[in-house]
Amino acid sequence: MTQVFINGARDDLNVREFQSLDPSIQEIILAATEARKQAYCPYSNFAVGAALRTSDGTIYSGCNIENGAYATCICAERTAAVKAISEGKRDFVACAVVAQQDNGFTTPCGVCRQFLSEFVNGKDIPLYAAKPTNLPLRVLCTSVLQLLPNGFSFANGK
Ligand SMILES: [Zn+2]
Repeated sequence: MTQVFINGARDDLNVREFQSLDPSIQEIILAATEARKQAYCPYSNFAVGAALRTSDGTIYSGCNIENGAYATCICAERTAAVKAISEGKRDFVACAVVAQQDNGFTTPCGVCRQFLSEFVNGKDIPLYAAKPTNLPLRVLCTSVLQLLPNGFSFANGK
């Protein structure tokens, strides 16, 4: 059998059908899909949605928000994270990112990988990258630390 790799992940191992995933995972992917509809992206026309589940089960979602002063743009992942953190929730247990690219999946940018890695709290956070359409939906299953091994942290802790 030929092994198919997508973004470095093996199909049917790291890339799975949406329907095969746990309902709690499906739920955050759908929340990210919904949040994507609010994306403000007149410059790139590249809409992204993200969702984070916290340990108490709450889902925080966000979209990318661009600005004419490009440096002030914020990604969907960080929008979702700052919503949660500003409400006192930072014990993240799962993350989903949804965007549409014909070839491959959209994973968090380097800034967001670093941002999320601050909150892995000694464990890791599974991350699911999906597209908003194209049924049967395929999902790239990875994690924050797989995407950013050896990210920056203060060597002596906080
Ligand atoms: Zn980002």
